[in-house]
Amino acid sequence: MAEPAGVRVGVADELERLWTPHRMAYIQGENKPTGPGAGDGCPFCAIPAESDEVGLVVTRGEYVYVVLNLYPYNSGHLMVVPYRHVADYTELGAAETVELAEQTKRAMTALRTASAAQGFNIGMNQGSVAGAGIAAHLHQHVVPRWGGDVNFMPVVGHTKVLPQLLAETRKMLADLWPS
Ligand SMILES: [Zn+2]
Repeated sequence: MAEPAGVRVGVADELERLWTPHRMAYIQGENKPTGPGAGDGCPFCAIPAESDEVGLVVTRGEYVYVVLNLYPYNSGHLMVVPYRHVADYTELGAAETVELAEQTKRAMTALRTASAAQGFNIGMNQGSVAGAGIAAHLHQHVVPRWGGDVNFMPVVGHTKVLPQLLAETRKMLADLWPS
């Protein structure tokens, strides 16, 4: 969205910006761990103990689970997360690596079915210098993209507030998750 002339700050660049006011809570530090350990309030260690509905868990595998991002870059933003509290991709065992990859593929299929996603940004930020918000616990982002990023909002959003939207998105994806 273009800013009005006269109030522009900074230099124009080529980055696409998504309108995500719900990320403000994240930027303000809500739900951030207090240290690098599993016992330091790591949300990725705490989520599996919650119900699917409360934790926004879409599916649970043997080694990894898939969860909706509470602070999405785009609606339908999923994360594939190992249950083990490991920071670095090289720390994953063979079976964990395979299941993380397999669930990433299923996430793509589910998002295409649910919302006709046209593209994806998939990947991991390794280390806080690379932009990892919770660097101590590995997580693979699966962010669906649409041309112009028309997304779930017009499909299920309308005027609903974000928690309702996330709950409906979670159920939609859980119901059609490939087995
Ligand atoms: Zn953890």
